[in-house]
Amino acid sequence: ATPIGLLVGTGRGAQLGILIRGPQVLEDTRKIDTVLLDKTGTITEGNLAVTSTTPAWGFDTPTLLALAGAAESGSEHPIAHAIVEAARANATLSEASDFTSAPGGGVRARIGTQTVVAGRVSWMRENDVALTQEHHRMLASAQQEGATSIMIGLDGTFAGLINLSDTVKTTSATAITQLKELGLRPVLLTGDNASVAAQVAAAVGIDTADVFADVLPEAKAQAVRKLQEEGRVVAMVGDGVNDAPALAQADLGIAMGSGTDVAIEAADLTIMGNDLSQVVQSIELSRKTLGTIK
Ligand code: ADP
Ligand code: MG
Repeated sequence: ATPIGLLVGTGRGAQLGILIRGPQVLEDTRKIDTVLLDKTGTITEGNLAVTSTTPAWGFDTPTLLALAGAAESGSEHPIAHAIVEAARANATLSEASDFTSAPGGGVRARIGTQTVVAGRVSWMRENDVALTQEHHRMLASAQQEGATSIMIGLDGTFAGLINLSDTVKTTSATAITQLKELGLRPVLLTGDNASVAAQVAAAVGIDTADVFADVLPEAKAQAVRKLQEEGRVVAMVGDGVNDAPALAQADLGIAMGSGTDVAIEAADLTIMGNDLSQVVQSIELSRKTLGTIK
């Protein structure tokens, strides 16, 4: 039978806007010693905005935005929403067809007879977009300035970069300090580039050694498994489709209420307020609840 204290704890969680899948989840929560955090939409708002563009030779900003906007209109990613919005502010979007997306990689679509790809370096390679050293330098320089930079390719030719930025939630730094005070180790796990990851980590107080960038969705789950093999009891906090495998692998999966259905389904616990302070509350609740049962 389930101890009454756990049921009370589950009810108290609901009052706090913390939806717990079953009473045993609170027991799992108490054992956690490491908290892996996704960046976009978890530590940051996830409302990206296009801040600048870097057209390649022969291209201009309106063309770059028009191509990327049309290709991204089939994607639900926050990067896609921001690019579509910026493109629409400029012109009416062209119709795209044959849309394909690679989670943690990018998108590809056809516009008329042309093929447009948008995404990271590996996605350009997979789609035979030729990249020179100069293109790599352009990317590195935009990333050093803290941008999430997306490469755009047109029929195998590099067309330029679209640079985006996001804001850290005002509550994230305090919550991460509190996690440390509770004796937990916060770790940042992101598919975004290392420069952006380092800047976000510094802003919220995550140690440089605990930052993992350029992590593809399957590798997020592997990162969880690796820490578990080292004897750690791991909670994973995320919101995206790309976080679902890691949420399922973790000893405790925590989804943001604003997250995708796939993330919420994979998680043991969902926080409705979309704010990391509720992760702290969940851990405190589990400790209090189980403290009263013994
Ligand atoms: P995060 O871990 O920050 O939530 P994702 O795993 O969703 O990030 O994405 C990782 C990277 O993959 C992005 O920073 C971007 O380079 C690329 N990417 C993912 N989706 C898209 C998209 N729709 N358009 C362009 N690039 C994308
Ligand atoms: Mg995310």
